[in-house]
Amino acid sequence: MAGVTDTLPPVLEIRDLHKSYGALEVLKGVSVTARKGDVVSLIGSSGSGKSTLLRCANLLEDSQQGDILFEGEPVKWKGKGPNRHPADRRQVIRMRTNLSMVFQQFNLWAHMSILQNVMEAPVTVLGEDREKVETRARALLDKVGIGDKCDVYPAQLSGGQQQRAAIARALAMQPRALLFDEPTSALDPELQQEVVRVIKALAAEDRTMIIVTHDMRLAADVSDHVVFLHQGLIEEEGPPDRLFGAPRSERLKQFLSATV
Ligand code: ADP
Ligand code: MG
Repeated sequence: MAGVTDTLPPVLEIRDLHKSYGALEVLKGVSVTARKGDVVSLIGSSGSGKSTLLRCANLLEDSQQGDILFEGEPVKWKGKGPNRHPADRRQVIRMRTNLSMVFQQFNLWAHMSILQNVMEAPVTVLGEDREKVETRARALLDKVGIGDKCDVYPAQLSGGQQQRAAIARALAMQPRALLFDEPTSALDPELQQEVVRVIKALAAEDRTMIIVTHDMRLAADVSDHVVFLHQGLIEEEGPPDRLFGAPRSERLKQFLSATV
């Protein structure tokens, strides 16, 4: 939507990013921008570099070339190419905190209750007041529909409930954007829907999100912009209606016909 946010820097801007694992070049110059309130979906075949792009974006992985800007502020690097690493530890923490990830396999801590899982990082990483965090954590667990599960352990929950707990945990950091890596792929179809509902509710709240997904219906329903990655390059991108309704590249057409 046009308005004030057009004059603000994007929440996240990735410019011409290159990333290799040894001799394997996984990202070959990828640019993606998410403005405040944008939902950007990343689609593409397995191995096309989607997870790598998310992990580079919040500095879980190093990249060798290109820029990453968080709220207009470029990541500061030391070294070049294979020797390039983030230079400012506080900036790394700020970006990881503000670009909160939700993983395919939930990655909840098995030895902690659901409430403790949600409270852990705000208390230990951000040093926030425990009581304040607990109030927020309980409200978030209510919001994702598992307010009655505060005291149970992850193993006692269904996959869909675990993933909703993981979303509450990501939100507890009060991030500027959420990064989802195939949030529904590990779930049975009937459990996918409960997670999709939560993601749609977040999109309706104008949250900034980047979502890697194989669920084309989810991508079509929530995205402002869809990016199709192929072998480490953007093959095609655009608004969901256009991309799904009138794909131009043969590769995207093939990909879409194979996933429906
Ligand atoms: P996607 O998420 O689109 O399926 P990935 O980003 O996971 O793709 O992987 C892209 C490519 O990078 C694949 O060829 C994969 O095997 C390779 N790759 C991913 N992670 C590593 C790693 N830690 N070490 C070496 N190669 C990796
Ligand atoms: Mg992946």
